[in-house]
Amino acid sequence: MTWPAAPLPPAPGGVPDFLTHRQVSEGGQGMATTSQTEVPAIDGWFTTGDEPALIGTRCAACGTVMFPPSAASYCRNPRCDSESLEAAELSRTGRIWSYTDARYQPPPPYIPRTDPYVPFALVAVELEAEGIVVLGQVADGYTVDDLAIGAEVELVVEPLYEDDDTTTRTIWKWKPTGTTSREVSA
Ligand SMILES: [Zn+2]
Repeated sequence: MTWPAAPLPPAPGGVPDFLTHRQVSEGGQGMATTSQTEVPAIDGWFTTGDEPALIGTRCAACGTVMFPPSAASYCRNPRCDSESLEAAELSRTGRIWSYTDARYQPPPPYIPRTDPYVPFALVAVELEAEGIVVLGQVADGYTVDDLAIGAEVELVVEPLYEDDDTTTRTIWKWKPTGTTSREVSA
């Protein structure tokens, strides 16, 4: 039997907690700043800066890539018994594998960014080199009308919600690049 190497998208209508919900695992981070600071909503899942990237886990033996980064100490590939895992930055661009529209405001603890609620789009993005599909919101300013299966998207980091007066929590999102079809279709 084969095991899917990729984390599969949720059932229709299901939105993963980490995309919409307040993170409650704060831990003693210094909050003594007076200006608005941008802080990742989840530690260790993506880098920030001009060219942000998702951080996955790669098996040094068989090359299987896992995202989110694996907390386990063994490879997820059932045909591999390696325990040699390393952090790896994933491809910054991918192709839209599927997408949907979050038409209705998710229930609490979801924190709406706008009032009234503005629907946001979710995409499942295929990273060809890694052989996995990664979910995410679509970048601010884009809707499902801007999306198409097979279109290229690029990883960006944008605000997810305001934590308080001084902290903006950020998350990775996928931004359409304008390349709308595969160069080569088999
Ligand atoms: Zn492996």
